[in-house]
Amino acid sequence: MSRDYYEILGVSRDASMEVIKKSYRKLAMKYHPDRNPDDPEAEARFKEAAEAYEVLSDEQKRRVYDTYGHEGLKNSGYSGPSDDIFSSFNDLFGDLFGFNTRRRNPNGPIQGDDLRYDMEITFMEAVHGTNKEVEITKRETCWTCEGTGARPGYRPQVCPTCRGRGQVLRSQGFFQVSSTCPQCHGRGQVILEPCTDCNGQGLVNRTKKVKINIPAGVDTGAQMRLRGEGEGGRRGGPSGDLYVVLHVQRHEFFERDGQTIYLRYPLPMVQATLGCKVEVPTIHGSTTLEIPAGTQPGQRFTLRGEGVPSLRGRGRGDMVVEVQVQIPRKLTKEQKELLHQFDSTGGQEPEDEGFFSRLFHGHLKKHKKKQQAEEA
Ligand SMILES: [Zn+2]
Ligand SMILES: [Zn+2]
Repeated sequence: MSRDYYEILGVSRDASMEVIKKSYRKLAMKYHPDRNPDDPEAEARFKEAAEAYEVLSDEQKRRVYDTYGHEGLKNSGYSGPSDDIFSSFNDLFGDLFGFNTRRRNPNGPIQGDDLRYDMEITFMEAVHGTNKEVEITKRETCWTCEGTGARPGYRPQVCPTCRGRGQVLRSQGFFQVSSTCPQCHGRGQVILEPCTDCNGQGLVNRTKKVKINIPAGVDTGAQMRLRGEGEGGRRGGPSGDLYVVLHVQRHEFFERDGQTIYLRYPLPMVQATLGCKVEVPTIHGSTTLEIPAGTQPGQRFTLRGEGVPSLRGRGRGDMVVEVQVQIPRKLTKEQKELLHQFDSTGGQEPEDEGFFSRLFHGHLKKHKKKQQAEEA
C-alpha cells in the first residue's frame, strides 16, 4: 500500500506549490544517494519523495489524486515516477545542492590537455629498444598560485558583472536574452588579483626532460602513453598524458616487415654457381650462410631467429636473405677466354628446355594465329 503523498512530503493537503517544492527540496537533499551511498533505506525515501513531488507538482495529477487517490492515478494511466528521476531532479535544482550532478562545475578542477610528441628513431633503435631523454616545452601547473591563477593570498572574487550567475540578461526588442557573461565567461568568478607568474592562467610554460623507454621490437606508428606527462591541470585538476608516436627511419640494407628482416645479398656468379660459405650481416651482428652450388638469382634463404625480437619479449622473427647473382660487366681478355673455353666444353645448358619449346611452339604460334585472325 502506497503512502499518502502529502504525508511523504510532510505538508498539508492544501499546501501551496511553493511549500510543496520547498519540502521536497529538503527531503531530496537529505536522502540524495550521493549523500547516502549504499543506503537502500535512504534511496527508497528519495524515490518516494520524488514520486510524491512528481504528482503533487502537476496540477492535473494532483487533482486526480485528491479525488480518487492512488487507484485513481493508476486508472488515469500514471505508472509511477519516471525512470530518470535524477534528471528531473537536476533540471529542477541544478547544482544548487553541490551534489555531483551532471552539469560541470565551471569553477571545478580542470584536467590538463594530452600532448602528442612525434619521435624519429633509427632502424636499429627500434629493433633493439633504447632509452631516450627528450626536452618538452609544455604548459605546466603554476607553482606560485598552484594553478588557481590568483595571486597568493587572494582568492577568486564573485564576478561583478553577473554577480556570480555566469549569465547576463540583455534586452533584445521585446525579449530578454540570457547569455554567457563576457567578463567571467560563465564561471561566475573573476580573478581581480592575478598571479604575476602565470598572468592568471594557472599554467606556465616550462621545459621538462622526459625519459622515454622504448622497448625492442617497436615499429612506425607505435604509441607510448606516459601518464601524467601532458599539460598541467588547473585548480587542482590532474595533468594530462603524453603520447609519444614513433617513426622509424629506413635502413641502408635491411628491410623489415613486422618481425621479419629482409636482406638482398649480392653474390658473384662464380660463387653462386659453385656454392660457398659467406658471412652475412644480421641486425644482431653476423652469421654464416651456406650457399649451395647452383644457387639461382632471387633465391631466398631463411635464417631462423635472426629477425626482430617480439614486443612481448619472447622469441625473435626470422631473417630472409635474397641472393642477387651478379653478372660481371667487364671482363679481361683472359677471363673472356676462360668463359669461351667453358662454353666450348658444353657450357651452360638451358635449365628448362621444355620452357623454350613451349615458348616457341606454343605461345608464339598462338600469338601468330591471333594476329592472322585479326587481320582477316
Ligand atoms: Zn600562477
Ligand atoms: Zn560574470
